[in-house]
Amino acid sequence: MTAVNNDDIWEDFLGISLDPPKMRDKCSQCKRPIDVCWCPGLPDPRLHVESKVIILQHPAEVKRALRTAPMLSLGKKFPKIHQKGLYDILNDENTILLYPSPNAINIHNLRKVGVDGQKPYNLVLLDGTWPQAKTMYHASPTLGTLKTCKLVDVPISEYVIRTQPTDGCLSTLESGALSLSILEGKDCLKDALLGPLHYLCKFQLERGAITHHSKELLIKQKTYPKLVGKRLSRQLKINSDNSSDV
Ligand SMILES: [Zn+2]
Repeated sequence: MTAVNNDDIWEDFLGISLDPPKMRDKCSQCKRPIDVCWCPGLPDPRLHVESKVIILQHPAEVKRALRTAPMLSLGKKFPKIHQKGLYDILNDENTILLYPSPNAINIHNLRKVGVDGQKPYNLVLLDGTWPQAKTMYHASPTLGTLKTCKLVDVPISEYVIRTQPTDGCLSTLESGALSLSILEGKDCLKDALLGPLHYLCKFQLERGAITHHSKELLIKQKTYPKLVGKRLSRQLKINSDNSSDV
């Protein structure tokens, strides 16, 4: 048995802080820790948007810390929708789902709000990765009955923190903001709604996060070689040899 020296025991206790460990303070609005809150990027005053946005979230997306859907709901004043109202909305002729189904209409070809008596839309968004959105669409017979629209020629995602599988793949915030600005015919909506995203990306980049380009772009630039199989890399090589303007 080893002799215990009383002084040693007290020495051990001296290192313990009197206060309980500090929890990271959370922002009451975006619920993120104060030091990574994106609220300063929110449009001020909040934007007036006539259409409703309904975001259906994949369960896995709820848990993710860097999701963008709350930026969209905090960025403007939308009427609150309660569960019982959801049924009516899904049956409304002005309800449109943003999803590239085979019958999806180019969003630019839809009547803008206010033109020829077009009422405000109920824009339904599926929040999640592309495979998650696909799963949601195919799992829900109700979604299958909705009129669908799609974004075409979309810009490269500004959400540079999270790797996007393809260049045309936008975060929920970006696709929602872009769709709303097209449907309401107000170009300014897009940039204003993207404020928190710009703020977050700039902030995270300043703190040393790596800018993630989409895998598609990295493959094109030949900086993403590990996941490219021999056949695909040969294919890409043929494509880039054929395009002399690159
Ligand atoms: Zn905040």
